[in-house]
Amino acid sequence: MSKNPFLFNTHDLPRRPGEMREYELTFDEHEALGFEVLAIAANEPIDIDLRIESVAEGILATATVRTEASGECGRCLDAVYYDVNESFQELYEYIEDPRQARKKNKPGKKRVNKAEEEDLDEDLVRQMDGELIDLDGPIRDAIILNLPINPLCSADCPGLCPDCGMKWIELPEEHEHAPADIRWAGLENWSGGKSEPGPTEK
Ligand SMILES: [Zn+2]
Ligand SMILES: [Zn+2]
Repeated sequence: MSKNPFLFNTHDLPRRPGEMREYELTFDEHEALGFEVLAIAANEPIDIDLRIESVAEGILATATVRTEASGECGRCLDAVYYDVNESFQELYEYIEDPRQARKKNKPGKKRVNKAEEEDLDEDLVRQMDGELIDLDGPIRDAIILNLPINPLCSADCPGLCPDCGMKWIELPEEHEHAPADIRWAGLENWSGGKSEPGPTEK
């Protein structure tokens, strides 16, 4: 997908600390977000309640993210659905003058090593792109970092029979695979103090 669908234009927010605007947004043109076993499907609506505030350094974005992930149970492969309801807060700093920004990033005496600098840039400081703020990272994090990585249809899902691949829950209680292995079948009968009385017993 070429265009970032999570860019938001803050044009309507006056650049005066204390000013604030609120929006209810729905993003429904995006790629799938998540894992193979559980993900927000492509174009599944992602509802965002967004509040943007002018602060001295830039724009503070506070949001709740609501959507539905779908996937399959890690044990029985049934479809599972998972409600996402998360929130985030991010500061987007102004870059008033691109030349200044460049100066700021110029190597100086107190320059931290390159790796740290990149960490700072990418993880801590988000910058505005003109009037745009990019909600992609925060939305992605809010969703992905909170998805269970081993989704289950229920906490005590018994899963599948390893022999036939059927769901335990749909199999009869005394389900077994009799002729699978003669030796074990024999053992089962032999150890059967608990088994039902045979025809010769009374
Ligand atoms: Zn299951
Ligand atoms: Zn079976």
